[in-house]
Amino acid sequence: MLDFSSLLLAAALSGTCLAVTMFAIWLTAPRARFVLTVACGIIVLVAHVILFWRYTKEPDPLLCQIALALLSLGFLIICLSAMQYLGVPDHRRAIVPTLAAMAVCAAFTFLGLDGVGFIVTYATVTVLLSTIGAMFWVNGSHDRRILLVVSFLSGTCAVSFALCGVVLMAKGQWTLGAAPDNWAERLNSVVAVACMTGLGALTLSLHHLQAQIELKAETMTDPLTGLMNRRGLMSLHAERPFGPFMAVVMFDLDHFKRTNDIYGHPVGDQVLCRFAAVIRKYARTGVDAFRLGGEEFAIVMSRMTEERAHDLASKIGVAFGTEIVPTPLGPLRSTVSGGIGFGGVDGSSLDEVLAEADAALYAAKRAGRNCVISRKRMGKAEPVKPALRSA
Ligand code: GH3
Ligand code: MG
Ligand code: MG
Repeated sequence: MLDFSSLLLAAALSGTCLAVTMFAIWLTAPRARFVLTVACGIIVLVAHVILFWRYTKEPDPLLCQIALALLSLGFLIICLSAMQYLGVPDHRRAIVPTLAAMAVCAAFTFLGLDGVGFIVTYATVTVLLSTIGAMFWVNGSHDRRILLVVSFLSGTCAVSFALCGVVLMAKGQWTLGAAPDNWAERLNSVVAVACMTGLGALTLSLHHLQAQIELKAETMTDPLTGLMNRRGLMSLHAERPFGPFMAVVMFDLDHFKRTNDIYGHPVGDQVLCRFAAVIRKYARTGVDAFRLGGEEFAIVMSRMTEERAHDLASKIGVAFGTEIVPTPLGPLRSTVSGGIGFGGVDGSSLDEVLAEADAALYAAKRAGRNCVISRKRMGKAEPVKPALRSA
């Protein structure tokens, strides 16, 4: 039979090593704050294990109170780190019930019902661990296999804590006066060490995955406007065929070189940001916006009829025409031209639709700028409608 004290000390030692490793990793990547939170949670759990070990030697009610409080607190912090990592807001949903359960546990233990205190704490930890597993399963956007392992480890650990509570209840041990010592406790110390070590190692790979995702998002974002860039467009749409209800609008600001020459580059940048803001305002679900480079932008529209696509592009043009950028030389108004290309019934490639949109944009420029032309309308040789041209 395994010696219970040795198991507890092994758990404390492995937890300390894990926490130190995580602190070191956090020091090299301070943005990964969830790694620091996990490390803090583990330290609290190590403190619990040491106090619990002391409690097995000399049962003291105060020691019992503190050890149980640290167990709930440690897992609460680990749960908060999972929320932090997954971007789940409203941390109060975990904090308030856990603090309430800790208060209930303290009250029972104070009244001498330390067995009930243990049961309440094991139930709290079971719920916290199950929440971690469920949150990763529901909110994780990673490789399903990693999520499965996280859920499995936290689920197994949750079951081992639940068993400890069930055994106490089954034996009716409402008052213990000493640390509980049964098969479930021993099993729990082994399972907890294995699962927490596994979860610790997974925290590191989750950290690497997050860094990769952030880096990828950065390479696909235009730093000036915050819109996605050409790489983002390729990554999202290059592989997919464009059907008849998909369209690309290419926008090009009019006489932008003149704007730069007269008002200066910083003002030009402000105009670019204004246009990006206008696009963002109109880009709802099913519309992705991109800055292709310089003063060229594009939006990709899904589930759009020709009329609605033209309507939306025109609204963006009109809205931008009303924007006023204050400059030292007086208020500045700019205009934009747009060209729309549509997907085909057989599914066109992104390059084909972009080429259509580009040709339409060229036609809009030739038609005098400040208007939107759609390629299909051009094909039908409809007259250009300079409806957006400002007076
Ligand atoms: P058109 O109406 O025919 O489109 O004329 P245009 O002057 O807008 O076109 P052109 O392609 O000649 O000029 C584009 C200008 O955009 C030239 C370049 O200096 C400017 N530009 C490109 N990138 C940026 C940027 O990031 N910031 C600023 N301020 N200007 C930029
Ligand atoms: Mg241009
Ligand atoms: Mg231009």
